[in-house]
Amino acid sequence: LDFLAKADPAIAAIIDRELNRQRDHLEMIASENFTSAAVMAAQGSVLTNKYAEGLPGKRYYGGCEFVDEAEQLAIDRAKQLFSAAHANVQPHSGAQANFAVFLSLLQPGDTIMGMDLSHGGHLTHGSPVNVSGKWFKVQHYGVSAETEQLDYDQIRDLALKHRPKLLICGYSAYPRVIHFDKFRAIADEIGAYLLADVAHIAGLIASGHHPSPLPHCDVVTTTTHKTLRGPRGGLILTRDAELGKKLDKAVFPGSQGGPLEHVIAAKAIAFGEALKPEFTTYSGQVIENARVLANQLQARGLKTVSGGTDNHLMLVDLRSIGMTGKLADQLVSGVNITANKNTVPFDPESPFVTSGLRLGSPAMTTRGMGAPEFVEIGNIISDRLLNPEDDQVAQTCRDRVANLCDRFPLYPHLQRPVPA
Ligand code: PLP
Repeated sequence: LDFLAKADPAIAAIIDRELNRQRDHLEMIASENFTSAAVMAAQGSVLTNKYAEGLPGKRYYGGCEFVDEAEQLAIDRAKQLFSAAHANVQPHSGAQANFAVFLSLLQPGDTIMGMDLSHGGHLTHGSPVNVSGKWFKVQHYGVSAETEQLDYDQIRDLALKHRPKLLICGYSAYPRVIHFDKFRAIADEIGAYLLADVAHIAGLIASGHHPSPLPHCDVVTTTTHKTLRGPRGGLILTRDAELGKKLDKAVFPGSQGGPLEHVIAAKAIAFGEALKPEFTTYSGQVIENARVLANQLQARGLKTVSGGTDNHLMLVDLRSIGMTGKLADQLVSGVNITANKNTVPFDPESPFVTSGLRLGSPAMTTRGMGAPEFVEIGNIISDRLLNPEDDQVAQTCRDRVANLCDRFPLYPHLQRPVPA
């Protein structure tokens, strides 16, 4: 990579510092992961030079014969991975995938219904600051105050009352299993389309560790970079090939121009990796590690929303120790643990302050950590949060983080862009 340092020393130095940051920190952000070197190589390849508006075999540009093959592989592998009838691999991101769904199924002024952002929903599910909240009438549902889990009777009541044209399930901060069949029954009662946005749990679905939305939902959207461990990007799947064609048009020309063929090739690689038995083992470990971490935090007196987790993430409810998410984020960050502050259901604090800390297991599981290490991570986080004023504890926590990072090296064979 010497050429990068020569061509642009400033950017090379930044990439170098970011590589070291990723190596030296415990990455606990639930939506992040570490892709394979092959996924990164495809993204840094000559495919970035190619314009390919259209779909494989039906392009508006010449010279697409090779990117056609890559995109077709990505489509075929995505269909196989999720047992879908149709896949569009072009959305640049999860938000773009959702926008294309809205464009194909809805008219401005229609009603949509998704989970409230502060209860774990996503901005693109009807937040007033997003196009979904500006163009559509929005009715939100939340989790039950008692169980902090989905209450399907409550969702049904709201759906019958507000009769949305599109019902959305799938979340950014929900630690429990989603019963897509129950959402289907509600959507059928009111004749609504059902969208599952499985951005967070796609990898768990692909590996059979979470029920699949495909048999029940009209459209499924996802990101490819979270539990699925691919490049940053989006994906749309359907069980109905005809609807799939409509969605293709909503992606291009509806809302995007040229597809990112270098990213699509990287998606193909990631889908290929996810089809292997090793990925099933990995995903099972992701869930086990999250469970171990949630249990350890609880054993140390930190409450988690809904009392635990069934998937890759958990939300620590800091109200019980009288701390804000903002402070908790700063405290763990100070000992080289990366996480994010997050609202908890019925949060009295603003989204900039919050009462929660969201933690996830996908990235550190990719580094090879298992249950004993996640017990230690739970103890380090607890020690820091329960002793916020103690500098001695902070130093010990930093040393313990360094020890874990040293024992589970990240990208050991990756050359540094700036020679050491
Ligand atoms: N949908 C859900 C449920 C998400 O959690 C996210 C990202 O956090 C997105 C959509 C948006 O994905 P992207 O950031 O790729 O646009």
